[in-house]
Amino acid sequence: MNQARLLFVLILGLWLISWHADSQQQPQREITRITGELYRFRNAGHFSVFLVTPAGIVATDPVDADAARWLRAELATRFAKPVKYLIYSHDHSDHISGGEVFADTAVVIAHENAKSVILGERRPTAVPEVTFSDRMTVELGGKKVVLTYLGKNHSDNSIVMRFVDEKALFAVDFIPVKSLPFRDFPDAYIDEWIESLKKVEGFDFDILAPGHGALGKKEDVRAVRIYMEELREQVLKHVRDGKSVEEIKKLVNMEKYSGWGNYKNYLPLNIEGMARYLQSHRRPN
Ligand SMILES: [Zn+2]
Repeated sequence: MNQARLLFVLILGLWLISWHADSQQQPQREITRITGELYRFRNAGHFSVFLVTPAGIVATDPVDADAARWLRAELATRFAKPVKYLIYSHDHSDHISGGEVFADTAVVIAHENAKSVILGERRPTAVPEVTFSDRMTVELGGKKVVLTYLGKNHSDNSIVMRFVDEKALFAVDFIPVKSLPFRDFPDAYIDEWIESLKKVEGFDFDILAPGHGALGKKEDVRAVRIYMEELREQVLKHVRDGKSVEEIKKLVNMEKYSGWGNYKNYLPLNIEGMARYLQSHRRPN
């Protein structure tokens, strides 16, 4: 091997090592435009949205402190506007950690039930200073974001955020797009969840921005509601027949959802969670 070649191989090797180290340290982060001045912020498998207005930015879930610091720097460079409002989708720490990064300029908003959980569980984030019970409209720079509480579903404090002019809805964890709900329905209220989805089906929007995975459309709300209803009906029948959870896993047939995300790994867990929920919400003879 001549010297030039040796040098080339060495440089290539060093570049590969640094690239590998970089890709291991940094989760994939990006900002993409959804429509108009509404953008999507990605941190690995987590997503939130933000709206840029002439009077400042309405941001949503900060995800975590590192992600929030990255986002803050990007917003400053790209838009040169401060975050005026920071709205939490629900209390779960994998979505709302790091809110303190924006707290110097932003009013932090969440559902009233979220505040006590954030305090009680010591979530590593800014405590919301403005809370609401049913509905609240955030207005900034001529834009409107309508926040609605639909009852309990994936938590007892999940809200949806409707960006009125953009006809877009940001909803986290309770309206997965062509994907199964998370694991065994932790912290979930199944029946109220189904009712929540029916309410969202009546809202005026075209674009669905979830907290995980690809963007969806309004019809995705109906699809996941039907999935929940079908799973509930099948599991309930087997629970009433006295079957064990392991037996129920073999009996339930949700084959038509096999093309959805997380089908193989979450279906057995969805069945476990559904069976546990239904067992604790019935009284056998
Ligand atoms: Zn969650």
